[in-house]
Amino acid sequence: MLIRILGCSGGIGEDLNTTSLLVDDDILIDAGTGVGNLTLAEMARIRHIFVTHSHLDHIAGIPLMVDSIFGQIHEPIVIHASAETISALRQHIFNWVIWPDFTQLPTPQRGVVRYELMAPYETQTLGARQIRMIPVNHVVPGVGYVIESAGRVAAFTGDTTTNNSFWDALNEYPSLEVLIAECAFANQEHDLCRKAHHYCPDLLAADLGKLRHRPRTFLTHLKPGAEAQIEHECRELLQDFDLRRLFGGDLIQL
Ligand SMILES: [Zn+2]
Ligand SMILES: [Zn+2]
Repeated sequence: MLIRILGCSGGIGEDLNTTSLLVDDDILIDAGTGVGNLTLAEMARIRHIFVTHSHLDHIAGIPLMVDSIFGQIHEPIVIHASAETISALRQHIFNWVIWPDFTQLPTPQRGVVRYELMAPYETQTLGARQIRMIPVNHVVPGVGYVIESAGRVAAFTGDTTTNNSFWDALNEYPSLEVLIAECAFANQEHDLCRKAHHYCPDLLAADLGKLRHRPRTFLTHLKPGAEAQIEHECRELLQDFDLRRLFGGDLIQL
């Protein structure tokens, strides 16, 4: 499997885009502003979007992408998400006010978008890939995903703060090879992290202490401008981890 990082910043700016991971050439995990890095032909190959939660930085690319390739969508793009996230997309984005309801276009019988409800801990099998939803602890209902292909395993936390569910689930995967973990803020923003339900380095390090494996670990969702500070604090606390900061355009091959 190949994971291409389309966006991995906590915000936008020159060369900074929000969360979106392309798995092989047909699956998106989240669809933030990073989706804009895809060509039209690449967008047209997307068949599935797995969404971690309803926040704008993780979904902003969906309405614009679907509109951009509207005439090229012959099979509906499937949006996989929790009940709460689907409800938020229906109610607040694809509501004919912010954007059209593409489940009804070009006709209600053959919309270009379809929602597929996923329950916590459920697995979707797509060809050789298996994608499993794991609940986490964010300010809105949020999930992470475990992605398996041909025995290789990668995991993405989504947006979260301190939890046991994600780490307990990962402990079931001794072959876990790659972990993409959010660390939105530096330690000086500890109180904000608690309120916004994100990790800062000390909270992330405490949770990584629950993990029995030592996968290659990539830091994502860093606050624009605070990246160096967050990375430095993580390196101090996580010296037994193979730690890297994720950059837009990175390719992770497993
Ligand atoms: Zn969020
Ligand atoms: Zn976010």
